[in-house]
Amino acid sequence: MPAYLDNAATTKPCEEAVAAALAAMTDNYGNPSSLHRVGLNAELAVTEARKSIAAALVCLPECITFTSGATESNNTLIIGAAEHYGKRKKKIVVSAIEHPSVEESMKYLEKNGFEVVRIKPQKTGEIDADEFIAAVDYNTVLASCMLVNNETGAIMPVKKIFTQIKRSYPDCITHCDAVQGFLKIPIKTADLNADLITVSGHKVHALKGVGAMYIKKGIRVNPRMLGGGQEKGMRSGTESVPLISAFGAAVRAQLQTIPTAWSNAEELNNRLRKKLAALDYITINSNAEDQCPFILNFSVKGIRSEIMLHFLESKNIYVSSGSACSKGSHSSVLTAMGIPDKVADSAIRVSFSRMSSCGEVEALATALQEGYMSLAKR
Ligand code: PMP
Repeated sequence: MPAYLDNAATTKPCEEAVAAALAAMTDNYGNPSSLHRVGLNAELAVTEARKSIAAALVCLPECITFTSGATESNNTLIIGAAEHYGKRKKKIVVSAIEHPSVEESMKYLEKNGFEVVRIKPQKTGEIDADEFIAAVDYNTVLASCMLVNNETGAIMPVKKIFTQIKRSYPDCITHCDAVQGFLKIPIKTADLNADLITVSGHKVHALKGVGAMYIKKGIRVNPRMLGGGQEKGMRSGTESVPLISAFGAAVRAQLQTIPTAWSNAEELNNRLRKKLAALDYITINSNAEDQCPFILNFSVKGIRSEIMLHFLESKNIYVSSGSACSKGSHSSVLTAMGIPDKVADSAIRVSFSRMSSCGEVEALATALQEGYMSLAKR
């Protein structure tokens, strides 16, 4: 049995998601915009999925727009909000450890006349709420902070940051990339004080190529996809009914068991942490507190990430070096936390899902020791 421990990169689709996608491909294959019954049935499937995502975010279904994934959601929300509201206000405050789909959107806006202030994390990997809040002023059009970091699992104090920002600067738009926290940490949109939220399907046992964005009622975002006006003009293009249906089905299948999934991940994380703490050649990079248990990042002394990754692969164990999105390159997240290059170069990210088991953790711990013994000698 393979030990798939790279769930922050992507997850295995659940049975419910696969069944829903199959039904939409075989029977319910209409175009939701068509006026006849076949079209209507497809539209109903999209509506049902929209309700499910809305239920998970505790918001109105009409606030949910489907996209091709979190990359598109982040691009659209950040650039679209900055363009709409940023005629005079030109400052944006963002954490320095965002996913590239956020960071590259920021770089694009910088080239187009915006000033971007990046808030570095503390040694723990967490953003200091007060430091973030202090950087926001009357000239700030947008504040963006992720919920859970995809490399370390650190949970950011987003609720505290956004609540304070809204109190002092109600016109500042707040955006949260909630991809790694969705269906892991219960999210109540109103509590979070986020105007805009990004989520992705394939991180929650749905399929690749689908995501969603939450846009608070009354908030305007310039669309990036122009055409037939689908999704109330926010995202033109014929809706991918199979992918959207699968996303909805996956969410429905998991919504009631968020606490159980969390405890399972916590148990696995603690088990692995304990084993790693006993090995003097391992440094744990993920902080012990304010941490999402689905991700654990550590470094193996003197062995580059890729070398260990491929050793583990030879044992049928699949992990990641840093984040799968920054393939081969240095982890800017670990560097921003002040972790020395040598340690960052040997970082391994283990990420659990609700399908992960103790057996997988045991297999990983054994293989890591074997790997160190054989690789360190070379
Ligand atoms: N944001 C975060 C925090 C992520 O971890 C990822 C996926 N690595 C994305 C955005 C991009 O998601 P997608 O693959 O759906 O575009």
